[in-house]
Parts: sequence; structure tokens; C-alpha cells
Amino acid sequence: MSNILVINCGSSSFKYALILQDYDYRIYGLAENLGTPNARISGVTFGNEKFQIDLGQADHKEALAVAMSRIGQVNFDAIGHRVVHGGNITSARLIDDDVIQHIKDMSPLAPLHNPAHIVGIEATAQLYPDLPQVAVFDTAFHQSMPEKAYRYALPQALYHEHGIRRYGFHGTSHAYVSERASTLAGAKNQGGWLVAHLGNGCSTCAVWNGQSLDTSMGFTPLEGLVMGTRSGDVDPSLHYFLAKNLGWDIEKIDRTLNRDSGLLGLSGLSNDMRTLIDAAEQGNENAALAIEVFVYRLAKSLAAMSCALPELTGLIFTGGIGENSAYIREKVVATLSHFGFSIDAEKNNLRGQAMRIDAGTNPQVWVVPTDEEARIAQETRQVALAETTTIAY
Ligand code: ADP
Repeated sequence: MSNILVINCGSSSFKYALILQDYDYRIYGLAENLGTPNARISGVTFGNEKFQIDLGQADHKEALAVAMSRIGQVNFDAIGHRVVHGGNITSARLIDDDVIQHIKDMSPLAPLHNPAHIVGIEATAQLYPDLPQVAVFDTAFHQSMPEKAYRYALPQALYHEHGIRRYGFHGTSHAYVSERASTLAGAKNQGGWLVAHLGNGCSTCAVWNGQSLDTSMGFTPLEGLVMGTRSGDVDPSLHYFLAKNLGWDIEKIDRTLNRDSGLLGLSGLSNDMRTLIDAAEQGNENAALAIEVFVYRLAKSLAAMSCALPELTGLIFTGGIGENSAYIREKVVATLSHFGFSIDAEKNNLRGQAMRIDAGTNPQVWVVPTDEEARIAQETRQVALAETTTIAY
């Protein structure tokens, strides 16, 4: 089996991980502030040793060369790139000129992400011209949604001529945790699962027999749940009101909804759930309200997602909040108790591993740490090397 380098490239940063078949640890790192005087890279290299290096004003390619020099003697056989927007592409693809053009064509739908992915793909292609590269799209898992779930009630031409529809994101994570929970529950990719991916970005998903049938994010990642700094759903007429009555231009409206809203906007304090839980415990009413809105909107979304499923096998929590906050899980499950969900307080307080946390009732409740890199490596092996490995659960 092969070692795979996984790259997740942002506009001024990238994360990388070398997924090794013969070791139970990874070589990984994060390069930040690229193209500024404060460029730096930190991570873990062979033998689990930590490192941090200032990079001057390095760009993506220079930083990538430093990252690769830190990998040491380990070879890899293919490179998998996380790509946020793949439009209507349904699975991971070997990168060629057509795929690069397609990622560029989708850039208006993901202006912060897709151009950065191209930078990463070109940098690794220059460094490793002989290795196959694969694009693994966040949107691909949701291409199985039926039309009733992905169409907006808008004039047809906006869909047919401009691709305006719901795409969904976080697909790699929803795919990974639903496969893992169903496997641990005894029937891989069988049954109906609700997934709550709760990180800085948050989304829910309805998965039936291993396929996404609906998800809360839409045309962009702004739709749906309350997130760290994103508002999630608002009345679409809000844009008109803010422009007409407050004189805001479209950039300011977009920035406000994406960067100044969500937990941060509601609390006026922080986008970080840990900070808000601590503050609420100290009596901060705005933090308490932000948590309440977050939980209520999440529970409402999960209830709505259940409409996509012929049967409800279980609910899965993942992402930084979903994996680590017993408090949030307990509140969400309590709001959904009419579905028959229960929680075992002792199991709910354990951390760090995939486990079932309900009190032995149905539908089940699970916590599953996500591992998008493992999933990207698995899909890269399949596409580039025709290796049909499965992740060991
Ligand atoms: P990203 O989407 O950037 O990958 P993460 O999945 O790491 O983010 O999630 C970040 C969120 O997880 C933050 O809101 C952070 O406060 C929250 N989080 C991490 N640990 C805890 C915890 N113990 N309790 C509550 N929230 C937590």
C-alpha cells in the first residue's frame, strides 16, 4: 500500500499531511502568512519531532519546498488535494488540464478557495512532475442529493444558465464519519444517519445507505446553521433592507454575514465555543444566548434533515465542537428527545475516540472524530493507484 501526501491549500496558508501506511502516526504541518513578511511553518516530522521555522516572505511554492525537506527519507506515491468546489463533479478526479480548467471555472462560486487550490496544485506539480495528483472535492459527496433537495425555488434560468443550486460542503467529513459510525454499528454504509459537523464552519447532512440525500449548506457555505462567524440562514430580504435603509454596499453585507455574524455576532465576544461556554458559566448573558441560538438552530436543522431519510438509525457528532463538547451534545439531544434520542452522561463525558453515547436506546447517538486527510488519502489511492484500500476502523 502507498504513502499519500495530502494538501489543503488556502489563499495565504496550507496544511499538509503525509499519510503513512506502515506507521500509526503522521508527518504533518501548517504554513501560514504566506506572501507576507511573517510567513512561517510548523509541524511534526519523521519520528514525531516538532519543528517551527520562520520563512521570511516565502510564497506557497517556497514554503512547500521547506515542508517537503522536513519530510525526511519518506517517499510517497501520489498527492491528494482538497478542493472546496467541484461543481457537478461526483467523485475524486485525477488532475489533468481539464480538471484544472474545471476548478478555475468554479472559482466564482468559491472565490476564496478554488484559486488557492490551483496555486497548490501547480506548486506540487512543479516539485513532483512525475507523481499523479488527485482532486478530492468537498462538494462531490452531495452530488447524490435528489433534485428536490438541491433546487432553489427560483426562476429556472438561474439554475440552467448559471448553476445556481444547492451544492453542499464538508462532504469529505460527512462521508468519513457516516461510513465509520455505520461500520462500528455493524453495517457499513447501511441505514439512515444524521450528521452534525460542528467546527468553525458547521453543517448537517442526511446520509442514507452511504449516500448524501440532503445537507444544510447550499450554493455557498453561508447557508444553514449558525457558525463561528457566519450567520447561516437569514431572510434573503435582509440584503435589500441593509442596502436600501443603511446604505451598505454588497461587499459590506457579504463581509458582515460571513465574518462578523454567527457566534461572534450574537455574543459580541468570540467565535470560539469554548470561550462562550466559559463566559456563559460566568454569567455572560450574550454568550448564553449565542449558545442557545446555536443549539436550537442545529436541532431544527437535524429535524428537517430527518425528512430525507426513510428510517433513522442514528445521529453523529463531529468537528471541534461536536467531538469535544459534551455540553452542546447534551443540549442538542435534549431538544430532539421527541425523536427518541437519549444520552448516557458518563459516555458523553469520555473523549478522543469514536463511540456510541446513547443510553442503549434507538435511534443511536455517536461521537466520531473526523479525519478528512485519511479520507482524501483513501480516495487518492483509489483514483491514482487503483488501490481499493479501506480505512481501518
Ligand atoms: P475548523 O472548522 O477550523 O477545523 P474545528 O473543527 O477545530 O475548526 O472546531 C473549532 C471549534 O471547536 C471552536 O469553536 C472551538 O471552540 C470548538 N471546541 C474545541 N474544543 C472544544 C471543547 N472542549 N468544548 C467546546 N468547544 C470546543
